Amino acid sequence: MTDGRGEIPLRTGMTEKCGVVGVSLDGRDAARPLYYALYALQHRGQESAGIVTHDGFQQHSHVEMGLVGDVFDEGDLDALNGSAGIGHVRYPTAGSVDDCCAQPFSVSFKSGSLGLSHNGNLVNAEEIRDELAGLGHAFTSDGDTEVIAHDLARNLLEADLVRAVKRTMNRIHGSYSLTISHDDTVLGVRDPRGNRPLCIGSVDDGYVIASESAAIDTLDGELVRDVRPGELVVLEPDGSGFDSYQLVEPDRTAHCFFEHVYFARPDSVIDEHLVYEVRRELGRKLWAESGVESDVVMPVPDSGRAFASGYAEAAAETTPTGEPREDEDGGPEFAEGLMKNRYVGRTFIMPTQDERERAVRLKLNPIKSTVEGKSVTLIDDSIVRGTTSTQLVDLLKDCGAAEVHMRIGAPPIVAPCYMGIDMATRGELIAADRSVEEIRDVIAADSLAYLSTDAVAEALTAERGDLCLGCVTGEYPYDIEGEETDRDVNRPDIGPESAAADD
Ligand code: AMP
Repeated sequence: MTDGRGEIPLRTGMTEKCGVVGVSLDGRDAARPLYYALYALQHRGQESAGIVTHDGFQQHSHVEMGLVGDVFDEGDLDALNGSAGIGHVRYPTAGSVDDCCAQPFSVSFKSGSLGLSHNGNLVNAEEIRDELAGLGHAFTSDGDTEVIAHDLARNLLEADLVRAVKRTMNRIHGSYSLTISHDDTVLGVRDPRGNRPLCIGSVDDGYVIASESAAIDTLDGELVRDVRPGELVVLEPDGSGFDSYQLVEPDRTAHCFFEHVYFARPDSVIDEHLVYEVRRELGRKLWAESGVESDVVMPVPDSGRAFASGYAEAAAETTPTGEPREDEDGGPEFAEGLMKNRYVGRTFIMPTQDERERAVRLKLNPIKSTVEGKSVTLIDDSIVRGTTSTQLVDLLKDCGAAEVHMRIGAPPIVAPCYMGIDMATRGELIAADRSVEEIRDVIAADSLAYLSTDAVAEALTAERGDLCLGCVTGEYPYDIEGEETDRDVNRPDIGPESAAADD
């Protein structure tokens, strides 16, 4: 498979687009808290779900293809004994719809048992796999997670837990937020650039590590803080606390901006920013950069909602040229003019373009009276292939909209994501080789505007250089074969001696 330009093989079977969780409690079984946390993270992966627990003597595992609610029944949860464990939900990706990559990955070896949940994508997994395979390690999947597990298992034969994790971190290159169980000790690790989110929370009788704080809220817990880039967090097996080890000093972070734009839940706090507020701020900036007078502002549900509310709020305060409004009722009216059928899954799950197109119509139905004869501004978070926007402009015009202006709360997506978000290949991305005006023409909107990358950085109170903007700039914070990088990046020398020398 190629990326559409033909030259870069995409390792679709190896990307891990997921939600991870780890829990350590004082005596209470971890299975049900893990199950509820996975429910809260279901948006991060619908292909498979799994839990691995440890009861102090033995590891227990239940991993299956399917949604969290279908994968576990009462009996499965009862059998997952132990007050420490980890969980995982996996995102469906082309070419990986089988159970080889379902997680947590679990393995028992000489110095104990390991469970591993991974969100992200390594760029040097194949090199490490080849090296370990040469040393006799047998791999059962082509996933990155198994590579990390084998490397860690090997390091644990020679070093204590913290050193072993450090050695593995010195060898793997790419994005990873991990929850790991080593017997009944639960760990959380975030890559030195903090590409994917990971946070720590407390509950009455223990601690939780999760991809998103919404999972901690679900357990009635309190968000303690984000796991820092390059940090290892080790939960006490009795739930009494956690230890922190800054194993790799981060140089510059590469937080994924798209987590805030699309992927994460709006009620999660990621890297100290409430996602909902970031989206509203992006909406406000969208008005400031490219506001257009119209009768109504309408979100594409659900992804455009927070953006549209910020946009409409800013539009009520100022004119498109930034002058304060004299009339309090000025600006376009905010209206929920598209109703969503909540029983239709995400359009991306449909494997063919034809099915995807039909799914948009199944999924969203306009309220005719809100649209008829009106100029409408339609707000969404992003355009990927252009399917949704093309269909919706057509739908609104069919319903009698006089004009449809499309406003997008992110910059044009011009390049694929190698770091863990299913984003399509260059050949499929509508903005890969088209100008904004050409895209406007394809989707048949009366006007189209995207948000600038500077506005995204401002909304996240970050420097551009501290974000991963690979999908909107084509320059990545990691060294990816055949792609440009936006910084000095060197793949680590993966030889075991060089890693051990860093202990
Ligand atoms: P498209 O129809 O291909 O242009 O996709 C744009 C729509 O899909 C928008 O409504 C987004 O909210 C949503 N979207 C963006 N990124 C993703 C993704 N990685 N997976 C699934 N849906 C996405």
